Amino acid sequence: MRTINTIIIHCSATRSDRDFTEKQLEEAHIRRGFNQCGYHYYIRKSGIISSMRKPEVIGAHCRGHNANSIGICYEGGLAPDGIPADTRTFEQKYALRSLVHCLLQDYPGAQVYGHRELSPDLDGNGIVEPDEWVKQCPCFDVKSELSKEQYQKHFVK
Ligand SMILES: [Zn+2]
Repeated sequence: MRTINTIIIHCSATRSDRDFTEKQLEEAHIRRGFNQCGYHYYIRKSGIISSMRKPEVIGAHCRGHNANSIGICYEGGLAPDGIPADTRTFEQKYALRSLVHCLLQDYPGAQVYGHRELSPDLDGNGIVEPDEWVKQCPCFDVKSELSKEQYQKHFVK
């Protein structure tokens, strides 16, 4: 088993008023030259969590950070007008919390990031500011919701 020390959250960057199925996601990634879906888990609007790629297989979802990470994608991330937005349903938020919580048990000490936080630090000050984000993905602040510190605050160990 490879070392996993990072969990990276993505959105599918599809409109929240449309369905984007596991099959469509996989086909989109195959068109981009991957042999299967680049993420390990996909969370539908219904809250269903689909396994897309075995955790022991390196993902294809965040350049420079794939070797030691797990990639999770939720369906949506764009409002019906196409503007990036936190479109997660109640069910998706709950499923995401549960999945990340389980992964932190399996990979203790792993850091949880939103994709945009791993954009290049252009001004080199050690902080990736919003104007340095390559894109909005995953369209919400992962640190304030899903970091290990947040779990320690909200869950009894
Ligand atoms: Zn992403």
